[in-house]
Amino acid sequence: MNVEVICVGTELLLGEVLDTNSFYLAKILAAHGLNHYYRSVVGDNPQRMKGAIQTAFERGADVVIMCGGLGPTQDDLTKQVAAEYLGLTLSEDPLQRQLIEQKYARLSETKLPERIYVQAAFPPASQIFPNDNGTAPGCLMKNGEKSILVLPGPPKELELMVERYVWTCFAQWQNGAVYSRVFNCYGLGESVMESRLADIDLTQSPVTLAPYASEGTSRVRASVKASDEQQAQIALDNMQKQIEARIGEAIYSVGQKTLPEVVSTQLGAIRLGIIDTSESAQLFWQVQATVLAQQFAEHLTGPFQQLFEQLQVNTLPQLIQRFCHHFQLQGVVVFEMQQEQQDDCHYQISYYLASGIQQWQVQVQSLVPYHHQPERTVVKLAGAFWQHRN
Ligand code: ATP
Ligand code: MG
Repeated sequence: MNVEVICVGTELLLGEVLDTNSFYLAKILAAHGLNHYYRSVVGDNPQRMKGAIQTAFERGADVVIMCGGLGPTQDDLTKQVAAEYLGLTLSEDPLQRQLIEQKYARLSETKLPERIYVQAAFPPASQIFPNDNGTAPGCLMKNGEKSILVLPGPPKELELMVERYVWTCFAQWQNGAVYSRVFNCYGLGESVMESRLADIDLTQSPVTLAPYASEGTSRVRASVKASDEQQAQIALDNMQKQIEARIGEAIYSVGQKTLPEVVSTQLGAIRLGIIDTSESAQLFWQVQATVLAQQFAEHLTGPFQQLFEQLQVNTLPQLIQRFCHHFQLQGVVVFEMQQEQQDDCHYQISYYLASGIQQWQVQVQSLVPYHHQPERTVVKLAGAFWQHRN
């Protein structure tokens, strides 16, 4: 199967934005064994976009992947141009309209401009891919032998969509049933993971490996194309042994389980509290939205001095003992913001037993202020418990 990638966006041609999407897609396509002979970049111009699509099909593409220009603004035309090229018309999907409305309702309460609903319109019989990091869904549209897959431009949106949904298409395009196994890792960046797995001889195995990274965790998906499931599972078992020998200590689950789910099981019936010195108790509320809510039952919020006065104690160990005694807790996590600027955020997560004895502490430095991506902080919290599991 020949796949050609077309990135759409005048900003890419003007050198304002570095095209990382084609780099990302190139790696994933290669990992799935798909032929990727050409790629191109074109501005937000319908005529030239059509020309680029035409060229791609003329030089042998079976599928054209277009990324960028799926949003609601006037210059976002990719889906319309692709449909027009294939001779298809867009019509609004009622379920997608509802989903778009729900997403925008969370962002603003004012009346929504009609233009946002272009994101809910698709050609007939197209396969729609949810956008879990944004609003515009992607889709695979088809007419006869020609298929065009349209994906959003923002890398965070595109990568999650590929990782969660679109990869099944890549697998199908390889012809034949595909079996896969995902190894979820914590504390291992995507590039370190790749370099540690680099010596696995993939030429001797039917299995392909595709790495992914998001929100402080990384994972590698092992896939194998086979007509026989038992054979596929044997190949995956062999690959699992090789992967575990190289990065086993960083793997927190094989399959679907998330890091908070793994840690929640690990903590079992234990009851813990959170002391958040940052006033907003954001960490506590974020934890409440995950399975870890079962363990983290209570919270105290505010600067230490204020809490010392409230609970009439003089030291942190005393504060922890008093807090645990009152709520029958077995331990407390202390979350301390140390420094937070535009693009730089340092915080410290510490774990104390009810006796006030400190068990561990982790320093976190992040380029993203924690309240912009509180779920990252929950991953750090869960990651710290997981790393100190013994
Ligand atoms: P939106 O809904 O945000 O408008 P979109 O799907 O319409 O998304 P574009 O408007 O084309 O996509 O691009 C949105 C942003 O995504 C760009 O400003 C740019 O920062 C980023 N982006 C687009 N294409 C790429 C690319 N090929 N590589 C890296 N970043 C990209
Ligand atoms: Mg746009």
